[in-house]
Amino acid sequence: MTTPLDDSRPADSWQLPWQGGCRCGQVRLRITAPPLLAMACHCTGCQRMSASAFSLSIAIPTAGFEVTTGEPVLGGLHGDSHHHFCPHCKSWMFTRVEGMDEFVNLRATMLDDHQWFVPFVETWTDEKLPWASTPAVHSFGQLPAMDAFPALIAAYAREGAQPPARNAG
Ligand SMILES: [Zn+2]
Ligand SMILES: [Zn+2]
Repeated sequence: MTTPLDDSRPADSWQLPWQGGCRCGQVRLRITAPPLLAMACHCTGCQRMSASAFSLSIAIPTAGFEVTTGEPVLGGLHGDSHHHFCPHCKSWMFTRVEGMDEFVNLRATMLDDHQWFVPFVETWTDEKLPWASTPAVHSFGQLPAMDAFPALIAAYAREGAQPPARNAG
């Protein structure tokens, strides 16, 4: 028998730190903590804000997420979810949810190197475009219950797609 911690990969297997930024480069980001979860959201709100079929998120522990350059501004609905945008190019960069201060949902394509990103969980498939599909291994018609997240996070730590190892030297 194993516990979740036994088969989690070491933190350095994530090839941190990561750098990222908006389309124009006025806002730059640095990520120094292993991600908690990789997601795609098919909700109609994400369809509008992403101007696409679904949004991509990678949840980063707040302590490991830093805006190094620029001053993001709020957009979207200006409600409990604080959607942060570049003030110049208006890229939708990341979301902080009120009352959930322990993580930041970064749009995965803001990472300079994001070719490795694969959504592990998809949400709101009830609202998805009929042809839109992702390789996520956990699918939810709406949002999973809050008490489902610890198991999803543990599974992602064991099985989630990771960046390729950097060449030594
Ligand atoms: Zn920008
Ligand atoms: Zn959504």
